[in-house]
Amino acid sequence: MNHSALPTPPYRPATLLVHGGTERSAFGETAEALFLTSGFVYDSAEQAEATFAGTAAHYQYSRFANPTVAMLEQRLALLEGAEACRATASGMAAVHAAMVSHLRAGDRVVAARALFGSCHWIVSTLLPRFGIDAVFVDGTDLGQWREALRVPTRLVLLETPSNPMLEIIDLPAVCRMAHDAGAIVVVDNVFATPLLQQPLRLGADVVVYSCTKHIDGQGRVLGGAVLGTRQWIESTLQPFIRNTGPALSPFNAWLLLKGLETLPLRVQAASASAARIAEFLAGQPGIARVLYPARADHPQHALAMAQMSGGGTLVSFELAGGKAASFRAMNALRLIHISNNLGDTKSLITHPATTTHMRIGAEERARLGISEGVLRLSVGLEDAADLIDDLAQALRRAA
Ligand SMILES: *Cc1c(COP(=O)(O)O)cnc(C)c1O
Repeated sequence: MNHSALPTPPYRPATLLVHGGTERSAFGETAEALFLTSGFVYDSAEQAEATFAGTAAHYQYSRFANPTVAMLEQRLALLEGAEACRATASGMAAVHAAMVSHLRAGDRVVAARALFGSCHWIVSTLLPRFGIDAVFVDGTDLGQWREALRVPTRLVLLETPSNPMLEIIDLPAVCRMAHDAGAIVVVDNVFATPLLQQPLRLGADVVVYSCTKHIDGQGRVLGGAVLGTRQWIESTLQPFIRNTGPALSPFNAWLLLKGLETLPLRVQAASASAARIAEFLAGQPGIARVLYPARADHPQHALAMAQMSGGGTLVSFELAGGKAASFRAMNALRLIHISNNLGDTKSLITHPATTTHMRIGAEERARLGISEGVLRLSVGLEDAADLIDDLAQALRRAA
């Protein structure tokens, strides 16, 4: 293998995303090779022995590592500015592995309440089964973080901007408090994408992604990634992944690698459309509020712009007419599809209260502000004017 991982000069993200991490085989292929293989052969029994002893570098088995997956990991690490990365079969496998590899019975976890549904389930339901104490706070309230982090804590989990209310958490402030309590900070950075926010540079220890979203970005495959220091990845995460098997398929890794090449173009275009759509929605009758971090009327606009370099591809808004008006509007859409997925080339809309956030219950939804009138729009790559026309006709018919 011919390594061309581009360590120098310090290339900019768009360049890293096209070339970073590429390892060419002896055939000199231009596109990244797809190593669809579960195992690897050794030249000799001695080489196999040395590989298992850790004194020779050789691929062993695709549950441990695979060249196509390694290219994806290296490219993601270069983009994030992380020392190391491990890819997983889904975003949830990444969150689960990052948490469970680090925790043991008797530990304490503090998490922001506004979490992706399955992350909430891991913290509230799974971890307590293994004797891990879980405390939820309102992520936007630094007083609650301070109170919760008075006690020694092993891990903090948060998501910013959050799903679906696009709440912003002050990363530097929470990371300082968490570190004082002895915790590592794990940030689910899906909504911001690695282009618009780099949590490691703001004090976080570990970043997790659902690569299913913007990194694939074309609605094809599931994937996940965990990024952190080489020491933590190799000594804490890798033994867990190697022995429990949340490995990413090389085929999916190959699609994700190609997705990364166009990530900046897609995120820029969708974010620009999202800003235009948010502006349009804010002027419409029947809309109680629009949430978009890059808008001056976002409740935490200043904080959002201090730690993000753009507003992102998601817009949430609340219809004054509640569930009935929301359903009428969704059903009247012609171009925008109803789907709980996000980060696709196709624009997708969801009603969180009856789908993604149905299971957390009415009380928790009320605490998070997810009313029956809230809709979450994931903006895709269609012409923004067509999306606005579609929303306009649907809102008229819903009124
Ligand atoms: C989708 C998502 C996940 C889970 O990722 P999967 O790839 O679906 O397993 C976790 N966190 C956030 C914020 C997500 O949007």
